[in-house]
Amino acid sequence: MTFEFNLELIETYRNNSQKSRILTEDWVERNLYCPICGKKYVDRYENNHPAGDFYCTGCSSDFELKSKKSNSAKMPKRFNDGAYATMISRITSSRNPNFLFMTYKNNAVANLILIPNHFFTPEIIIKRKPLGPNARRAGWVSCNIDISSIPDSGKIFIVKDQIEIDHETVISSYARTKSLKTVNVESRGWLLDTLLCVEKIPSKDFMLDQMYAFENELKAKHPENNFVKDKIRQQLQNLRDKGFIEFVSPGHYRKTT
Ligand SMILES: [Zn+2]
Repeated sequence: MTFEFNLELIETYRNNSQKSRILTEDWVERNLYCPICGKKYVDRYENNHPAGDFYCTGCSSDFELKSKKSNSAKMPKRFNDGAYATMISRITSSRNPNFLFMTYKNNAVANLILIPNHFFTPEIIIKRKPLGPNARRAGWVSCNIDISSIPDSGKIFIVKDQIEIDHETVISSYARTKSLKTVNVESRGWLLDTLLCVEKIPSKDFMLDQMYAFENELKAKHPENNFVKDKIRQQLQNLRDKGFIEFVSPGHYRKTT
């Protein structure tokens, strides 16, 4: 894997977002393997295909690429996306794509992460202000994707600060998340929000009271639920059944990685 973009492709282009799209998509096409099944390459859909930007014929996965120029070594919290309504309907549909988030600097890839489709909930899609009356697309509402509220387990690094992560590590990290796939989006939200809280506790072992400390935070995300502590215990059981934590003794838990 080389990290440099092919600048010859954009010699005749002026528009920066167009240049960025051409360079980053070309890079993925030339360099990326399927991070889900390990097939040696992914194929590109034609422009504006509703299913996404790339697909894998080995495992029938779709991928959408979002990129951002950034001089920081870390991933930004948010990425710009297109129309808010379109994004919400994609997330809640059965065929939402997996996302690839890329940062680049000095015309080379710096970071690339895979976020599997089952980590997307409507809560991470942040509505932006409608475009003003003088804009070419007045009234149009776009969105940001807030990746900071996705658990770390769902942010699978393929390239981290210009170091390529071993393919087996990437593929097994994805495989580990498959148990988190849920049928409906509402239960997905509770499960992922609870996992995010677990990851915020720095130690491997933790107590139920440490989870209860997130009660207000979870209540704010799920105002319709008045039994947040019950829900926390239920979701901890769920995370145990899915292999993310172990129950050590009553009220005492341990992360499995
Ligand atoms: Zn694949």
